[in-house]
Amino acid sequence: MVEHIIEQTAQKVKENQNLQNTDYLDAEGLCWCGICGERKENRYKVLGHERILPCLCRCDREKLEAQKEEERKQDFAIKVSNLKSVGLTEPRFREWRFENDNGSTPKLDIARQYVENWKDMQQRNIGYVLMGPVGTGKSFFAGCVANRLMEQGIPVMMTNFSRILNELTKPYADKNEFISHLVSYPLLIIDDLGIERNSEFALEMIYNIIDRRYCIKKPLIVTTNLSYQDMTRADLDMDHQRIYSRLMEMCLPIIYQGQDQRLHEQDIKLEWLKLQQE
Ligand SMILES: [Zn+2]
Repeated sequence: MVEHIIEQTAQKVKENQNLQNTDYLDAEGLCWCGICGERKENRYKVLGHERILPCLCRCDREKLEAQKEEERKQDFAIKVSNLKSVGLTEPRFREWRFENDNGSTPKLDIARQYVENWKDMQQRNIGYVLMGPVGTGKSFFAGCVANRLMEQGIPVMMTNFSRILNELTKPYADKNEFISHLVSYPLLIIDDLGIERNSEFALEMIYNIIDRRYCIKKPLIVTTNLSYQDMTRADLDMDHQRIYSRLMEMCLPIIYQGQDQRLHEQDIKLEWLKLQQE
């Protein structure tokens, strides 16, 4: 009898890839898993006839779930890779990640908090203006935020002002469509907003982008070599003034070293908040 059952099991294992050598048959000739102890076969009525058909034991279900999880991971990796190839418009942006910080980049804890509290930041439409001289780590800060959010599947566009202008001044450029595209991102990062000496057209375009994001309450992060004093000078023309005042409404200031030290960062923040309310 035992020999007969072993023979039957071996035959079934051969016929059915789903069955393993450790599996065993019960008195009714149905197969059970030797690992988890659950059924691997069941009797079903098919078109009036009773038939023995395979079913999934716990091991099979776990294997299937692991496969699905692996597929989900692969799909997500592809999604992140696509987000980065569109949203990081310069190759060097890819290197600006928290993982590449050697511990010397100032204020990176603020960037970490921003990413950790992204939902809240998004809801309250909070962004930053990072001010300070070249080489102080502003762009690295912005790049870390961009990369990390994209790694969480959130679309971010990180570009710079000269690239935006370049796109808008191409022959046959559809300005509206391009601006709408920039406005559509949950987070837009403009690295190096160098608008001190620019044409009226350029200023108009940059104002459009910033203002449209302001109106639909979508946050913006900007880095600039301008100082706080540059942005709040009394003799600014209207074109610049309205851009800076929008930025003040949408973004919190972050001051990097090397600025005019007469004002401490805290004082600047207070003044900035006061200016918003005027
Ligand atoms: Zn099993």
